[in-house]
Amino acid sequence: MQRQEAQQRIETLKAVLWENSRKYYVENAPTMSDYDYDQLMHELEALEAAFPDLRTADSPTQRVGSDSEGGFAKYPHKYPMLSLGNTYSIGEVEEFAQRAVKSLDRGFTFCCELKFDGTAICLTYRGGRLFRALTRGDGVMGDDVTANARQIANIPHVLKGTGFPDEFEIRGEILMPYDSFERLNREREVNEEPLFANPRNAASGSLKLQDPEEVGRRGLLCTLYHIPTGQVDYKTHDEALRAAESWGLPVSHERRICQDINEIEAYIAHWDSERKNLPFATDGIVIKINEMDSQRQLGYTAKSPRWAVAYKFKAEQALTPILSIDYQVGRTGAVTPVANLEPVFLSGTMVKRATLVNEDQMRLLDIHEGDCVYVEKGGEIIPKITAVEPSRRLPGARIPSFPLRCPDCGTPLVKSEGEAKWFCPNTDGCPTQIKGKLEHFVSRKAMNILCGEATVEQLYSLDLVRTPADFYDLSERELLLLEGWKERSARRFLDSIRQSRKVSFERVLFAIGIRFVGETTARDIARHFGNIDAIAAATKEELLEVRDVGEVIAESVVTYFRDPRHLEEISRLKAAGLQLSVESPAEAASEALMGQSIVISGNFSISRDEMKALIEAHGGKNSSSLSGKTSFLLAGEKPGPEKMKKAAELGIRVLSEADFRLLLPGMEAPSPESVRDEVEPTLF
Ligand code: NAD
Repeated sequence: MQRQEAQQRIETLKAVLWENSRKYYVENAPTMSDYDYDQLMHELEALEAAFPDLRTADSPTQRVGSDSEGGFAKYPHKYPMLSLGNTYSIGEVEEFAQRAVKSLDRGFTFCCELKFDGTAICLTYRGGRLFRALTRGDGVMGDDVTANARQIANIPHVLKGTGFPDEFEIRGEILMPYDSFERLNREREVNEEPLFANPRNAASGSLKLQDPEEVGRRGLLCTLYHIPTGQVDYKTHDEALRAAESWGLPVSHERRICQDINEIEAYIAHWDSERKNLPFATDGIVIKINEMDSQRQLGYTAKSPRWAVAYKFKAEQALTPILSIDYQVGRTGAVTPVANLEPVFLSGTMVKRATLVNEDQMRLLDIHEGDCVYVEKGGEIIPKITAVEPSRRLPGARIPSFPLRCPDCGTPLVKSEGEAKWFCPNTDGCPTQIKGKLEHFVSRKAMNILCGEATVEQLYSLDLVRTPADFYDLSERELLLLEGWKERSARRFLDSIRQSRKVSFERVLFAIGIRFVGETTARDIARHFGNIDAIAAATKEELLEVRDVGEVIAESVVTYFRDPRHLEEISRLKAAGLQLSVESPAEAASEALMGQSIVISGNFSISRDEMKALIEAHGGKNSSSLSGKTSFLLAGEKPGPEKMKKAAELGIRVLSEADFRLLLPGMEAPSPESVRDEVEPTLF
């Protein structure tokens, strides 16, 4: 590949990987399978190896994905929490073992363990008591989830036995067993809340709740697998874990010491089938060098230890017949074929439906009616059909014909050039699209109105709501027409509508559902133009000046505001009192930071002087150096290492800009991706 072509591909891969990393770690709602993600990551690694000068510090090959979220205090990890190199090939595990034999000058063994599919946790015990629990965060600083960890049944608050250091960290995974996961999703279905795609996302979403009691009800479990070297004086990793177990810490019993690659392969083969009988999800095997001095000798890359590798299992497959195919219309009008399957048990849950993605994919798979198909669970809630089993095809089976008209409103479907999906163009008249848009408008990340799918359905069928602005005209009398609604539910609903008037302009712009304008783009456009009228009047060229806005988005925004029905809708939302311009920091002044002494370090989305003015506008005091009196360190991008170190020594809270903004009334967090270039590789 030529350099220029490689450069372009690298940029594309970086953007796709970071975007999916955010969906996976922060939103807990991945839309790509782990296997596909890992293949793209390996492609990027190979390109960067071929063109080393194109490797930059911000590449996803150089940094771990960040799970950091607003609303949690941040503390630095004593030792960075890294990732693991991974492979799907036994051959590469053999290479790992051979490399270790070559590099190490003394005998060693391997410790093979299950790779638990949950979310990483770092527990610190001080004086034998649980002192702090941090998530991996960005690897350098983690989110403080101590109150939540205390609610997890098998995490001891107090250690037993003797011989533990006065202070030490132990790392592991928080898991949600399959039965808790099924129960939680059933409850969420009843409450009309979005379902979790898999136990991993459910575990990570639950650990980040703001309500520790609810965390306690989620049935999470912890399993611990690593004490960073330097904190305990054991010869082997296995010995350290045995000691941890004697202190009452939950350590997995499934690990095994292996002498060579044959024993490793036997362990992998055993667990590849046996893991289906475990009550929780595993996604592979971790092979670690067992001897601590050999671990030290092998060391780390920027992102993972050289003394360990993860062998990942390919997603589990099941074979089952297609009973029928539905053609579902989404909020944007896209029509997706979904197969109803003979229910089959897969990765701990019962699968009844699977996506066929689009017409091209159906052709590619050569789907016939009644075919037996292989189903796989990727990152999505709805599993994917990956292949047909031709030997099981029924004689005379027909190829299903893709509908020519919208299955909902009957409008002829259209397919634009370059699109893989068929669309129903009746954007403002197709009932499914209207309801989909209303559901999007009220969703938690948009206007956060207490209203699920079933309520939208009722409001729509009673002809009470057709467009978002109609929500603001609803009366209690009208709401009492809804089946099962009493005064209390109507008032609660009206109250949440009232509250939504305070939702920031950025989110309102996202909520109105302009095609291709997601959360981040809405925020960038809102900040760039400042108010809705300026956006409505903007030309395509002006929109292209906004960060990350390309032709497709710009065109979509212009088309949206060209439609008089949309302009009418905007003026109704304006009349209803929604926020349709960005609040300036000065207007938002409050006493939220009264009595707090704050030190700032690093770069922010606004200038440092503006940040100081913002602190003062909210009653805070700016201080240049850290001391026992400092309330917190506000760390932007690239904070000073000395300040970070001192904050860790003094036990001072470190807040990111996103967290800080959440302390201020009416302010929104900026981009969740807090960029930090240097991760000092020591321990994972
Ligand atoms: P990882 O999950 O592949 O492996 C490292 C993690 O494994 C550790 O951080 C630890 O939490 C966990 N682990 C479980 N059992 C362990 C054990 N016995 N010993 C040590 N560690 C153990 O790496 P990651 O950095 O957490 O995540 C990257 C992976 O996440 C990617 O390879 C990809 O599969 C997935 N991902 C998927 C998407 C997507 O869109 N589907 C996006 C981002 C990341």
